[in-house]
Amino acid sequence: MKTGVLAVQGAFIEHRRIIEALGTECVEIRQEKDLSGIDGIILPGGESTVQGQLIRKTGMFDTIKNEILKGLPVLATCAGLILLSEKIEGQDERHLSTLPVTVKRNAYGRQLGSFMTRGSVGDIKDFPEVFIRAPYITAVSPEVDILSKMDDNTVGVKYKKQLGFAFHPEMTEDSRVHEMFLKLI
Ligand code: GLN
Repeated sequence: MKTGVLAVQGAFIEHRRIIEALGTECVEIRQEKDLSGIDGIILPGGESTVQGQLIRKTGMFDTIKNEILKGLPVLATCAGLILLSEKIEGQDERHLSTLPVTVKRNAYGRQLGSFMTRGSVGDIKDFPEVFIRAPYITAVSPEVDILSKMDDNTVGVKYKKQLGFAFHPEMTEDSRVHEMFLKLI
């Protein structure tokens, strides 16, 4: 089993470390050819506008989008969730647009928006959730499963083989969310 992590910008190394610590191969994706032969893809946190530009500039946009639409499992965190979302509040620009949800960027405020809490992620209880200038999900299509909520806001979803989280499971020692993703593959 081979996982790819999008490595054009942001917190990709942390994801790679967790996937490798779980005993599976992880390759960094910087160009189209790196996508061949992967069984799942991770879209890390960072800055979604920059990542969106870079996946277009490097010519990977269409392949990533089509593979996800064909069922390539994806784990998207924070900026990665924004890349996947069909709608982004307050802006017309969208990116991969494969996940039928609406996100609000920097939903907890830009400067003071970083914090940690603990919550459930589907069947996983008491998971450490690190939020860094995070979005949250303001609307979901009926076929989307809600995996996590923080206060009244949705912060984790599953739709087909797409997992999207507003927080950073790679910034903790707890690998249960990555295990959930590997099970999907
Ligand atoms: N605020 C970033 C954005 O809008 C996401 C932050 C993150 O990935 N930690 O793209």
